[in-house]
Amino acid sequence: MPQYNPPLRDMKFVLHELLHAVDELKLLPPHAEVDEDTINAVLEEGGKFASEVLTPINLSGDQEGCVLDKTTHEVKAPKGFKEAYAQYVEGGWPALSCDPEYGGQGLPVLVNQFMYEMMNSANQAWTMYPGLSHGAYEALHAHGTPEQKATYLPKLTSGVWTGTMCLTEPHCGTDLGLLRSKAEPVGDGSYKITGQKIFISAGEHDLAENIIHLVLARLPDAPAGSKGISLFVVPKFKVNADGSLGERNPVYCGGLEHKMGIHGNATAQIVLDGAVGTLVGQPHKGLQAMFVMMNAARLGVGNQSLGLTEVAYQNAVVYAKDRIQMRALSGPKAPDKPADPIIVHPDVRKMLLTARAYAEGGRALSAYTALQLDKALSSDDADERKACEDEVALLTPIIKAFISDNAWIATSHCMQVYGGHGYIHEWGMEQFVRDSRINMTYEGTNTVQSLDLLGRKILSNNGATLKKFGKKIAEFVEEEGTSEAMQEFINPLADIGDKVTKLTTEIGMKAFQNPDEVGAAAVDYLRVVGHLCFAYMWARMAKLALEKKDSGDPFYTAKLATARFYFAKLLPETASLIRTARAGLNPLMEMDEALF
Ligand SMILES: Cc1cc2nc3c(=O)[nH]c(=O)nc-3n(C[C@H](O)[C@H](O)[C@H](O)COP(=O)(O)OP(=O)(O)OC[C@H]3O[C@@H](n4cnc5c(N)ncnc54)[C@H](O)[C@@H]3O)c2cc1C
Repeated sequence: MPQYNPPLRDMKFVLHELLHAVDELKLLPPHAEVDEDTINAVLEEGGKFASEVLTPINLSGDQEGCVLDKTTHEVKAPKGFKEAYAQYVEGGWPALSCDPEYGGQGLPVLVNQFMYEMMNSANQAWTMYPGLSHGAYEALHAHGTPEQKATYLPKLTSGVWTGTMCLTEPHCGTDLGLLRSKAEPVGDGSYKITGQKIFISAGEHDLAENIIHLVLARLPDAPAGSKGISLFVVPKFKVNADGSLGERNPVYCGGLEHKMGIHGNATAQIVLDGAVGTLVGQPHKGLQAMFVMMNAARLGVGNQSLGLTEVAYQNAVVYAKDRIQMRALSGPKAPDKPADPIIVHPDVRKMLLTARAYAEGGRALSAYTALQLDKALSSDDADERKACEDEVALLTPIIKAFISDNAWIATSHCMQVYGGHGYIHEWGMEQFVRDSRINMTYEGTNTVQSLDLLGRKILSNNGATLKKFGKKIAEFVEEEGTSEAMQEFINPLADIGDKVTKLTTEIGMKAFQNPDEVGAAAVDYLRVVGHLCFAYMWARMAKLALEKKDSGDPFYTAKLATARFYFAKLLPETASLIRTARAGLNPLMEMDEALF
């Protein structure tokens, strides 16, 4: 069975050395009292919860899956999930970054980010239950009426109730403008909602006493398309005026999907049969309200992928040091053994280092983004809030898609390190690959993320936000440009920065002639910009590692070696990505549809 050791050393490096997070957070009024010891203590305790409570039920949860009782419509999560959730609630973990007004602990998003990384490493399927709830909390916190907040937020904060996000219907996933679920006003301020939702994560289960569904549906007078969608909060059990649970609402699980991975998470078909709900936000503005939840979920998917990359890496390293096969080409490295450990072979190292560089690069970028999000939420300077909000909006599709694409590559490499044993269930490696695959698809496929990045976040404002982010990189290049030791990092960073600028302009020009050019280039483009972000993070980490390289702490030696690997072996894929992005639309559209 795979093991998991929370990477606390690297987390502390990112927090305290790379980001100087405490100094930055202290400038934000709600976090003025935050200190390094508290953050470290939370991460240490959180790490224990992840590795001691969630890891042991990951493989078994995958084997067992969720079970639906078709007569009661109730779902049982795998053995141990309910007990682990009770422990999670008991420990106060759901409240970590929630608003103190509703019983939260008010800690920064950044701390929650690390907690979730550890839980995702330990058990992605389980972590989706609290993850979806936190998204529902955020949407209601941002858009709920005072009554809705008073009714739902304390229970979502404590975790005694969980939440879901009900968007997808059988005929519409990406294009939510097509959705058909209906909401009829009852006359008392509430609505009766009818329709069918599919693929609803954590849609039904036995972990919590109530489930709060956030549902997209159309009002009777709704215009067609995405401008006619409203958001409703629909509890599984209605809530009485005194906050106690009332009668069962007709929103139930009609079936569970049998799927490739995340078996421990119930992916439910949800039938709404005149279920009573209340409107969240403005009529017909449901998508805007839901975007709060969707953006949080997109960052969450990047975090799931980061968690899986880390845990797959850790286990593959242990295996590669233990498994002996063949001799090194340059002669025996373990002459006392009948063969060398496979970690001596260059390609095994390449697979391990790829996963390591993606995990540590992903951790740095995700934490950087979470800190920007804290500033966007809590700075007392409106200009800073706006600038940080824009930057988070830019980085969100990159985190979602680049880190999940990387996780697919990395978990597959780590499975390969195990040879044939990686393909066998009991080692747990094939589960990481299967679990990671969904991250490229849900929350908007990675294609949709790349269209969002290139079309909405970059071209629609003539690259203004990208330029601001690029300016930060240019300043770092300028500062370090004269350091000889940094040349191996600074030169390729500056180079990829220039190439992104040129590529963006070129695609922008082509898009004037034919907007389909955006669709032809977007996926390659996102990967190039993802590498720009990683190169920036890796160059900054390399600088710190160089400064400490004579400290005798092997952490910095390893960090420097991983940075060198990243720049030498991973970043260069941008050359071919830029070529394919530039190849444009014609090779894709030349063939007549009938010839496919
Ligand atoms: C396990 C699982 C859990 C899920 N959890 C939830 C949940 O909790 N709540 C929820 O509401 N939904 C959930 N989903 C649904 C998920 O978000 C959708 O499956 C996803 O958004 C894609 O929608 P679709 O499946 O309808 O594919 P489609 O929208 O039909 O897309 C099919 C293909 O066409 C591509 N495509 C579509 N439009 C374009 C375009 N304009 N340009 C280029 N390519 C395009 C897509 O990228 C995709 O490759 C879940 C799905 C799964 C499998």
